Amino acid sequence: MVGQNLNGQMDLGAGGVSRRQAMLAAGLGVAAVALTGSAASAMGTRRVVNDDPKAGGPGAEASEALGQGVGFYRARIGSIPATIVSDGFAAIAPVQPLFAPEGKAEEVAAVLRENFLPEDKVNIDFNTVLLRIGGEVILVDTGSGISQEATIGRLLGNLAAAGVKPAQVTGIIITHAHRDHLFGAVQPDGRASFPNAKVFISKTEHDFWMSSNPDLSGAGIPDEWKKAWVSGAQSVLGSLKGSLQLVAPGDKIVDGIELVGTPGHTPGHLSLVVSSGKDRVLIAGDLAHNHALMFAKPEWTVAFDSDKKQAIESRKKMFDRAAADRLRVLAYHMPFPGVGFISRQGSGFRWNMEPWSWTA
Ligand SMILES: [Zn+2]
Repeated sequence: MVGQNLNGQMDLGAGGVSRRQAMLAAGLGVAAVALTGSAASAMGTRRVVNDDPKAGGPGAEASEALGQGVGFYRARIGSIPATIVSDGFAAIAPVQPLFAPEGKAEEVAAVLRENFLPEDKVNIDFNTVLLRIGGEVILVDTGSGISQEATIGRLLGNLAAAGVKPAQVTGIIITHAHRDHLFGAVQPDGRASFPNAKVFISKTEHDFWMSSNPDLSGAGIPDEWKKAWVSGAQSVLGSLKGSLQLVAPGDKIVDGIELVGTPGHTPGHLSLVVSSGKDRVLIAGDLAHNHALMFAKPEWTVAFDSDKKQAIESRKKMFDRAAADRLRVLAYHMPFPGVGFISRQGSGFRWNMEPWSWTA
């Protein structure tokens, strides 16, 4: 959902490189252990790397204690190893009009204050998901790609830290064709970032962006951003043409993944429900962009939405389902690793972050 130019501050903040370097230099912090083999062996911890997809593949050692890393987080969905892999983070300021453009300024500030969040900016994370399912290695969304912004475009580096090589990825599911979800699928020279992967995207989404004049009149963003979105999406989808698999809600890619149509943010936006045993997880995509604003007030939108009314309907419908079925939720823009649960609260909802687990 981020435009060509974020038009906001880029803030390395306390979670940035300097802190990580400080941790490594000080030899402190278990989170840093997975990044360096020497540090791992010095600590007596096995390094989590597995290059052979046929012999287990990425995520196969997800149950290993202390297997988490700075930019990746291992989880399990039943018997499916899942790794949330960060593409980075950004700060968008000011909050309005990109976030909650229809809210009164004092109401927006009040919701942020109630949630102990800054009132002058919104911090968003970019959380892709890698699933090892049915013999496939499937990545859900591919981040922004190589970027001028220092804090995003981190996917390939964080995948490497998690022990995953791009060639091991056999399938990519794109929730929608915005920059921060799709553009990382190709390198600046047009080569596929994941050369062995089929790329699954909704036919509606594909056809919208590849049409001669995609209707973005519902989005409240500058025309230059719209042009950059369209030219970028057309370029990336064009480069991937030979690998594209156009799908519709309900189509089966692999057993255990249900594709759910959640249009509004974009015309062909997809969410996923992943099932294994009794576990069911909603991979939400961009049903929400902040864990406070759009939960407390699900009728508040983002300026990036193509069709605000439809986006609100999709959000409410899937949040209702997640709350009623007590689904675990992986959400692209929630605070990393973006794993939590949705409950009802008053006339809206609440994001309940799942406690960090060291043992996946
Ligand atoms: Zn997004």
